[in-house]
Amino acid sequence: MILKGYKKLSFFASIDNHNSEKNSIVTNMVQKRGLYSYGTKLLLEQICKKRQCAGLFILQRNTKKTKTKSERKQKTTDRRNVGAILAIDTIRGIVLKEMPKGETSKQVIVLAKGLGKIWMTAKGARKQKSKLLAGTQMFCYCDFQAYESRGFYTISQADVIESFFDLRLDMDRLASAIYAADFAERIALRGMEQDSMLLLLLKTFQMLSKKGYSPLLASRIFELKLIQIAGIMPNMTEKCSVCGKRASAYFSGAAGGMVCMEHRSGSKKIADGTKNAMRFVFSQPLSNAFQFSVSSEVLKELDEILEQYIQIHMNLKLGTRDFEKKYKQLL
Ligand SMILES: [Zn+2]
Repeated sequence: MILKGYKKLSFFASIDNHNSEKNSIVTNMVQKRGLYSYGTKLLLEQICKKRQCAGLFILQRNTKKTKTKSERKQKTTDRRNVGAILAIDTIRGIVLKEMPKGETSKQVIVLAKGLGKIWMTAKGARKQKSKLLAGTQMFCYCDFQAYESRGFYTISQADVIESFFDLRLDMDRLASAIYAADFAERIALRGMEQDSMLLLLLKTFQMLSKKGYSPLLASRIFELKLIQIAGIMPNMTEKCSVCGKRASAYFSGAAGGMVCMEHRSGSKKIADGTKNAMRFVFSQPLSNAFQFSVSSEVLKELDEILEQYIQIHMNLKLGTRDFEKKYKQLL
């Protein structure tokens, strides 16, 4: 890859504010001589425009330690003539997970617009005075300036759009937000656009930040919308999932939805309120899907149904889901 054998020489920021979708290393070579001349600036501007990126790192080829005079001369020539450009892109996304890296750095997993799940390194982000400290915390929705190398990103700047800091102030909301981030992190794919999941997570965090809105209900709606996005929505019609006959009272996770009296073995009786709540969430756009309330009985039933459904159809049982309900016992 282009980065191997290069070191960072300087940073060139584009004057124009470009929105970036692409992330790649520009392999163009530029003359180092006259790097800051007007002509070179124009050239770099043009490259920024073409790559739709906000800035470039100018890289210089690393030369080995030299001994002889002729080698030293060669080194000088290399430094003058050879450079490479590394594109800086603006990446918008939510921090799903943060992990310490080394003594002062951090690695974060971000669900990024247009890119899906990506790994990003924030150098020195655990230092108290780091400008990356705020933007690389869990739940943070940010515009990151970053450059990519071999599928990994290094953050050079993080502009916070929404920190969702309030989620940390209330245990119930925090537990639900941790679960939502964990769930998204587990099922999000690398290198594949998952913007609908990103929007759902954003909406869920916004609802969790609202005082008076039940965090457990927000979690269940998040799950319902997520299984809809994942394309494994249960059959909630009045027809049996097995035979197609009339079905109105039983739900079977294994059969994938409503079942008739005949095929009800292994199923659960489902209340009308629960059925209607599920149908409502599936039928509404994201902007409306959270706009209702349910009784505690319905919420409990939704919880049981979804726990089993996600386990069967996504092969997923997350500790953070239990934590959402059980942390109180630990206090
Ligand atoms: Zn049937």
